[in-house]
Amino acid sequence: MTIRLHNTLTRQLEDFEPLDPSGVRMYTCGPTVYNYAHIGNLRAYAFEDLLRRHLEYRGYPVLHVMNLTDVDDKTIQGCRDKGVALDAFTRPFKDAFFEDLRTLSILPAHHYPAATDHIPEMIALIQRLFDRGLAYRSDDGSVYFSIARYPEYGKLARLDLAGLKPGARVDQDEYEKEFVGDFALWKAWVPADGEVGWDSPWGRGRPGWHIECSAMSMKFLSESFDIHCGGVDNIFPHHEDEIAQSEGATGRPFARYWIHNAHLVVDGRKMSKSAGNFYTLRDLLELGHTGREIRYVLMANAHYRQGLNFSLPALESARASLGRLDEFRERIRAAAAGSASQAAPAWCREALARFGESLDDDLNVSNALASLFDLVRAGNRAMDRGDFAGEGAAAVEAALEDIDRVFGFLAPAAESVDPRIEHWVAERQAARERKDWAESDRIRDELAALGWTVQDTPQGPKVRRL
Ligand code: AMP
Ligand code: ZN
Repeated sequence: MTIRLHNTLTRQLEDFEPLDPSGVRMYTCGPTVYNYAHIGNLRAYAFEDLLRRHLEYRGYPVLHVMNLTDVDDKTIQGCRDKGVALDAFTRPFKDAFFEDLRTLSILPAHHYPAATDHIPEMIALIQRLFDRGLAYRSDDGSVYFSIARYPEYGKLARLDLAGLKPGARVDQDEYEKEFVGDFALWKAWVPADGEVGWDSPWGRGRPGWHIECSAMSMKFLSESFDIHCGGVDNIFPHHEDEIAQSEGATGRPFARYWIHNAHLVVDGRKMSKSAGNFYTLRDLLELGHTGREIRYVLMANAHYRQGLNFSLPALESARASLGRLDEFRERIRAAAAGSASQAAPAWCREALARFGESLDDDLNVSNALASLFDLVRAGNRAMDRGDFAGEGAAAVEAALEDIDRVFGFLAPAAESVDPRIEHWVAERQAARERKDWAESDRIRDELAALGWTVQDTPQGPKVRRL
C-alpha cells in the first residue's frame, strides 16, 4: 500500500513517505477571521479532512496544525470599520468557524495557533532573516524580505523573475503575480492601525500575513515537516513567501509535500467574498440542508484538484444518495443484529479494498464513492436472495464503519442545528427554569413553526427536525 499525492512543488504525483516513520506532520492554512467562512473556504477544510482521515486510516498518526489569522490587512480594516478592538472583532468569527467545523464533522486539528499569540516567534524569525542578510528595513520603518538575495524565490509558483524590477516592494498581504517584489515581514505602525500594534526591535508595528504561517508551522511542527495544504490561490504569494522565509532562515527544506485544492466555483467563477457569489454554511442550513449533506457535496462531488461546481440541486442529490446509504445501513444492521463480525463476503472485501486503493491514488474520491455504492448494490442483492445474515452482515457493517472513518458522512450523525435554533432552545430552558410556562410554550410553538421539535430529557432538552 503506497499513498500517492500530487505535489505542487514538483507538479508530479509522488509516493508519500513521512520524514519520520512514526507519524505525519501536517499544516493547513486556516481562516482569516474577519467574516464568516464561505463554503469555498470550507471546501478547503473538507479536502484537508479527507486527506488527514485517509492517512490515519492507512495507519499514520497525523499531527495536524491549523492557524487562525487574526491580524492582517483584512482584520484590521474590519475592526476599524466596526470601531471595536481587534480581539472583540475577531472572536465571534473564530467561534463561528469552530461551529462550522463541528457541523461538517471535520476532525479538529491538534493545535489552532492564533497569530496574535505568536508575535514573539515572528519577531525571532524576522531576526534570523536579518542575520542571514535576507531582510532589510525600508525608509518607512517596515521590514522586507529581499527576493534578489534569495535565488530560489519563485520555485513553488514557477515564477519567471527575468524582467523583475530590482528593489520593487509590495506592502499588501495579498497581491498578484505582476506585483512580485520584496514583501513585508513587519509593517511599521501607521495611524490607521489604531490600537493594533506590538513593539519590536524595528519599532511598533505588526507582522505581515506570510510570516505568521512560517513562524507558527515551524513552532508546532519543527523546521521541516511533511505536508502543507491550502487552496490554489495560496500558492502565490502566500506559500511562495512562506518557503522563502522559512528556508531562508533555517537553510533547511520546509514542507516536503505541498498539496492544493482547486476552487469551489459558481457558474464558472471562484466563490469569494469580493465577487459576492457566496453562501455561508448558515445560509445553507437555513435553507433546510444538513451539515452531512453539505459535507457530502464538498468532499465527494469532485476530485480535490478539480473545480467543484456548487449548486443547490447538488445538495438535493446528496440527500438522495445519503438516503440510500441510510436504508442500506438499517437493513444490514437488522440482518446483523446480535452477531459477531467474522469473515466478510468476497464482494464486501473487494469493495473495501477498492475504496482504500482509490484514495491511495491521490484521493480519487469518485472511485472511492463508486466502490461504496458497489458494496451497497451487491449487499442489497445478496440480502434479496436471502444469501446472508448474521456474521456476514456484521462484517459488512464493520466495513461500512471503516469507510466512514474516512468519509465521515455515513452515520446519520447528530443533526446539525442552526445556532439560532440552539439559542431559542436555551431561552426556552431558561423560561422553564423560572417556571414561566407561558413563555416556554410560546417558544416551543415558534420552534415548531420553524420546523423543529424539542423533547425534555433527563440530560436536558433535545431538539430535532420535525
Ligand atoms: P482565507 O480565509 O481567505 O485565507 O481562505 C481560507 C482557505 O480557503 C484557503 O486555503 C483558501 O485557499 C481557501 N479558499 C478560498 N476561496 C476558495 C474557494 N472558492 N474554493 C476553495 N477554496 C477556497
Ligand atoms: Zn498560511
